[in-house]
Amino acid sequence: MQVFISESAFWGILVSAIEVYRKESYGLLLGHKDRDMFMVVNAVACQKAERHTTWVRARERSHARIVNFFENLPNLYIIGDFHSHPRREINLSEEDIESMRPDAVYIVAEIRDKAKDKYWSYNEDGTISGTTDNWFIKIAGFYLDPESGKPKMADVLCPFAIGFSIKPKRTSTA
Ligand SMILES: [Zn+2]
Repeated sequence: MQVFISESAFWGILVSAIEVYRKESYGLLLGHKDRDMFMVVNAVACQKAERHTTWVRARERSHARIVNFFENLPNLYIIGDFHSHPRREINLSEEDIESMRPDAVYIVAEIRDKAKDKYWSYNEDGTISGTTDNWFIKIAGFYLDPESGKPKMADVLCPFAIGFSIKPKRTSTA
């Protein structure tokens, strides 16, 4: 399984992780699913949804409003959600796993204080990672394997992100 992340969705996931650091971000993923690929077109942060907000709590009013709004738009579907793991490994927590539904994709963004600059690149485990001005960020996509019912990591595809980051150091000309 692959997860394609558009430029817009990449920014949405990054900005919300940074904005609420060191709290967890949360938001919805919009797009569509083709045979073996989730196409994430947009990632919309849900401000009111503090941590623990997952599909499980989709009944809550503000969350339900957003879900209803998107479910009534043509051509865009809620295909999953995203949240950040501030200063934590990217692995799913038990709670994350409990909230997973079949046929949906779950993006997790690990975010830490940056130790050193790293250009954005694909990693062997299917994640992508890199740095911004102050942070190291790693992005993974998870889904439930239809056969085993267990969570699996998908391969993240995000051509926009690759090579992104780190403004070249200005060489002093003075
Ligand atoms: Zn989590």
